[in-house]
Amino acid sequence: MNQTAKNAGLALMRQHALIAGEPIPANGSGIAVDDPATGEVIGHVPDLGAAETDAAIQAAAEAFPDWSRGDPHRRAAFLRRWAALIDDNVEGLGALMALENGKPFEEAKGEVTYANGFIKWFAGEAERLIGETQDSPLGHLLLTYREAVGPCALITPWNFPAAMLTRKLGPAFAAGCTAVVKPASQTPFTAIALAELAYQAGLPVGALSIVTGEASVIGKVLTDSPLIRKLSFTGSTGVGRKLAEQCAPTLKRVSMELGGAAPLIVFADADLDLAVAETIKGKFRNSGQTCVCPNRVYVERSVAEAYAEKLAAEVAKIKVGAAFEEGVKVGPLIEDKAIEKVEKHVTAVRADGGRVLTGGSRHELGGRFFQPTVTLGGDDALFREEETFGPMIPVFAFDTETEALDKANASEFGLASYLFTRDLDRAMRFSRRIEAGMCGVNTGLISTAVAPFGGVKQSGYGREGSIHGIDEYVDVKTVTLALR
Ligand code: NAP
Repeated sequence: MNQTAKNAGLALMRQHALIAGEPIPANGSGIAVDDPATGEVIGHVPDLGAAETDAAIQAAAEAFPDWSRGDPHRRAAFLRRWAALIDDNVEGLGALMALENGKPFEEAKGEVTYANGFIKWFAGEAERLIGETQDSPLGHLLLTYREAVGPCALITPWNFPAAMLTRKLGPAFAAGCTAVVKPASQTPFTAIALAELAYQAGLPVGALSIVTGEASVIGKVLTDSPLIRKLSFTGSTGVGRKLAEQCAPTLKRVSMELGGAAPLIVFADADLDLAVAETIKGKFRNSGQTCVCPNRVYVERSVAEAYAEKLAAEVAKIKVGAAFEEGVKVGPLIEDKAIEKVEKHVTAVRADGGRVLTGGSRHELGGRFFQPTVTLGGDDALFREEETFGPMIPVFAFDTETEALDKANASEFGLASYLFTRDLDRAMRFSRRIEAGMCGVNTGLISTAVAPFGGVKQSGYGREGSIHGIDEYVDVKTVTLALR
């Protein structure tokens, strides 16, 4: 166990919420946060409600005029100072995240760096909030400005406690928005630590609050408030739908980063070793608990057995364990229910005549650990509509390109997709026809700060990261100038 790293994480853990820069301590009660590897409580955050959420909204509204109308270079400079502080604290933030989320420590540090990529990228975007001039057919001169939408509500999930937050706060702050954040109750400490660093970097008081507590209560206050002009949500499709409905009466701008059931397709002409290695990279990040990880793999029949066997042989080597153990690649799942879901999916494959090639059961470590699993055959129907959200790869065979495309698209989700082939024509054709916001061709890694991230269909709308990310946080104002 890496006690030094753990201590660095605990040193950054603050057991309080932050309303307008002011800490509200938990004092040993409220919401208990546990280490998924052991189930032991590592700390508490307060169980706040409507009054504190209102106070946070008020503070965001008060901080908004000065922050949004000020020089965007001031916001860029702040983002760069914040990013520098995060760079100085990669170890501590990674350890804190590993403690509350359970992901391997090395991977958690990688997430901190990935998360910081959004802050660095959007520091540059703040400097490029450029408007346009244009002649109008009425003989006027048109000027456009890209103005901050207003105070924002940002609701984030537990699976990427840092990156899901910075992917929203980076563009929000760059545009001049202020924010009230509701982090996931299972992983609030990373968000609070990042917020503390933001204040250390000189964020004006009130520009950011972190409210912890009952999600439905806080969510209702945020969505009902006319002062909040935008909601950005990352989480499950069911909750996303509900929040979009709640935002309708106040006509808020809404971005929705929701669930996925990503297909991964391997054609017979693909480099199978590459396909196997990339499938593993894509699938086992965060122990299979990512919205973009391959949920169902379709392989051309002539190579299906060979691919699945190679995959199973590699997956069987993956080391499972607690976050701070050397060489661990797959950690515990976030909660007991998550284990039950993976079990249900393995059982479904077996019931449909599929075979388990490796894994298939709870891990001998017990608790929330599950064996990395590969199955072959059975029915893909369940995997089109339900994310396994655990370390399991179900492989199915297909016969024709049309069948593969139909299967890939036969899902209500459309977030990520992956394709392995050496045929350039097919890669171009297939990636255009697939109903997904993102398609990785011969790669299992598609997320960086510079790539537009988002889905179609029931996976939501809006794009995060890239040159498009800031558009979610700006309104375009047109000034028509009559030149006489
Ligand atoms: P979730 O249950 O929807 O929770 C996400 C966040 O919403 C948490 O902060 C949660 O708070 C909050 N929440 C829950 N009910 C709410 C309500 N009625 N009003 C307001 N807020 C509410 O999702 P999850 O299980 O944490 O996350 C996994 C899901 O997120 C998966 O479906 C995954 O695919 C998706 N995801 C999507 C992306 C993407 O970019 N598309 C990225 C990552 C994850 P509490 O924690 O307090 O319940």
